[in-house]
Amino acid sequence: FTGKTGSELLTEKLKRFKVQEYQSVPIVVEEDVSVYDAICTMFLEDVGTLFVTNEASYLVGVLSRKDLLRASIGNQDLTSVPVHIIMTRMPNITICEQDDLLLDAAQKLIEKQIDALPVVKPADEGLEVIGRLTKTNITKALVELARDQHL
Ligand code: ADP
Repeated sequence: FTGKTGSELLTEKLKRFKVQEYQSVPIVVEEDVSVYDAICTMFLEDVGTLFVTNEASYLVGVLSRKDLLRASIGNQDLTSVPVHIIMTRMPNITICEQDDLLLDAAQKLIEKQIDALPVVKPADEGLEVIGRLTKTNITKALVELARDQHL
């Protein structure tokens, strides 16, 4: 018997969770695709956030549902507007890496008031997008943690 309370054990466990174990597959579009196509991709892939990459497949931006809604209001021809015009762009993208603590990534989501972080891997000339970490991933981790507590 360790003398630790249930809540101490729970906290210790939570602090060991890494982004890698809970991340989802990233859905990515290239920067020159149209807002129209990005909206179609968002529906087809059933995600709330798209990551935008350049020709070299490096991260250049993020598109949220509201970014696409905003661009759609009063704009007739969404097929002629490329997403790089409306996206949130680098270097203003909040990111995380696979080995980061899930708790630190969750803190970023709260602080920046956003729904998702790209999980990136630094490469020679940019950031490779290898995952997607959302509020849903955090919720799943929390539920798993509670379920694992055999009372
Ligand atoms: P929504 O706008 O659909 O509610 P978010 O709250 O995630 O979704 O996005 C709010 C704003 O923050 C959007 O303009 C979006 O482009 C931007 N954003 C979303 N995720 C990130 C991120 N990881 N880094 C920087 N900006 C982001």
